[in-house]
Amino acid sequence: MKRLKHVVSICAIVALVWLCPLSSVWAGNFDANIHFHINTQRYTYDEIVKWLRVNIEMAESLYSNNPALVIHPTFVQENHTAIKIQTDSNGKNFSYLGFDNVSDLEKFMDDNFDNQARTKTDGHLTVLVVDTVVKNEEKNKGLCGRATFPHWVNPFNRKRGIIIATCVVADTDPKVLTQRYLLAHELGHFFSLKHTFEPYVNLNPLSVSNCNKEFGNHIKCNSCQGQVKPDSAGDLRECKGISNVMDYCTSGIGKEVLNACQLSRAAKQRERYLTSDGKTDYQAMAGLRGEGQCEADADCEDDEFCTAGVLDLKRNVCKAKKPLGSSCTDKRQCASDRCNLGTCKVADECQADSDCGAGNYCGEPIAGQRTCKAKLSDGSVCTKADQCQAGRCKTGFCSAPTSASMGESCRFDDECREGKCTAPVGGLTKGTCVCKKDSDCGSGKWCDGGVDAKVNACRPKLDKGESCAGVAGNDHKCKSGQCSGFPKYVCK
Ligand SMILES: [Zn+2]
Repeated sequence: MKRLKHVVSICAIVALVWLCPLSSVWAGNFDANIHFHINTQRYTYDEIVKWLRVNIEMAESLYSNNPALVIHPTFVQENHTAIKIQTDSNGKNFSYLGFDNVSDLEKFMDDNFDNQARTKTDGHLTVLVVDTVVKNEEKNKGLCGRATFPHWVNPFNRKRGIIIATCVVADTDPKVLTQRYLLAHELGHFFSLKHTFEPYVNLNPLSVSNCNKEFGNHIKCNSCQGQVKPDSAGDLRECKGISNVMDYCTSGIGKEVLNACQLSRAAKQRERYLTSDGKTDYQAMAGLRGEGQCEADADCEDDEFCTAGVLDLKRNVCKAKKPLGSSCTDKRQCASDRCNLGTCKVADECQADSDCGAGNYCGEPIAGQRTCKAKLSDGSVCTKADQCQAGRCKTGFCSAPTSASMGESCRFDDECREGKCTAPVGGLTKGTCVCKKDSDCGSGKWCDGGVDAKVNACRPKLDKGESCAGVAGNDHKCKSGQCSGFPKYVCK
């Protein structure tokens, strides 16, 4: 941070942006947000934060070659219920995290302390700091730190949160607070460095890329430039001189280093964790995730979409909506909210009828685009009710119920206020509203509704003596309501 501020202030003085080529200034850094979740009993929270700050400083000074590591730490008091408090034989408390096996440990880290990539360039690495971690309670196998080696292939490309343990189970030795390279060691793994006593697979042992070739034997303190001493537990873990960060030694003079090969290897890995424009790529550092960051667009910001359902990966992340002309498979991906033929296009005029004014509806897409259209009059061809002024689309025609009087044109019976429509069933051609019964015709008239249903005309009721012959039931034709006689039927 100090270095950057310095550069910025010089730029301010010069006051000419082009004299300060930002790309070359910023490309040198590998900015890493790291969240430290702290739960220790052995030490106070403040002691641990202070200790971590020293570790951060050491890591930054070690990995200072391009792109130089710059850590942006966030410290959090962690209270996960799985972290227990235990008491040692001296009556001192320590925080304890125990598992049956490594896969349980990994699942716990995935579920609770995963590296986060909300978007490609927005995220953080996660470091859990406790006193004791036991990966196999039955065998009482603990560890002092654990980090992902990026070339692990199982599970493919998965990168987990880092664990750091203060690693003092049964003694009160406060020396962990003098260990300044624990974070650098774990980050070393994350930056693809192996322990000094482990071979780099598939590399010629004599190759310059084999960073461990100068460390001849397999003793875990093999990089010690000086005398190796047993530690308080009797293990050969203390080096009186300089040691390498990636071995299992503590340097008695507090100086640990990386060789040129390790530094360049770690820098190359940091470059792999950068986007093409030089930003820290948190997705690359999270690797293929066990679970997503978003399930739906609602989980993202307004100007973002969730890749759920777009990519066939479980790594669902929020991404910025795309500008016009970008490729798309769904309108959700486009800032214009319109994807046509695989490209984000100019926004639709409307998405719903409510987007259009009164008397209009939102049309079906034409060449993928929806526009507002005037509602259709009765009888127009339609596909949906909301296209019609009448509010009804019946077998492909806008149709208003009870809208036509006797003698007016119609397609359907229910359009006629009285009687029925002579159009064929389905309304394919127009017809006329005709009577069905006498009451359709008003007073003084009767409906000549023959069985053929062709004429169905309203006719004036007949006077006395007029012929009222018909098939049957002819009384209603007569004003008198009586039609009789044989062989000649007349109104009485
Ligand atoms: Zn290690």
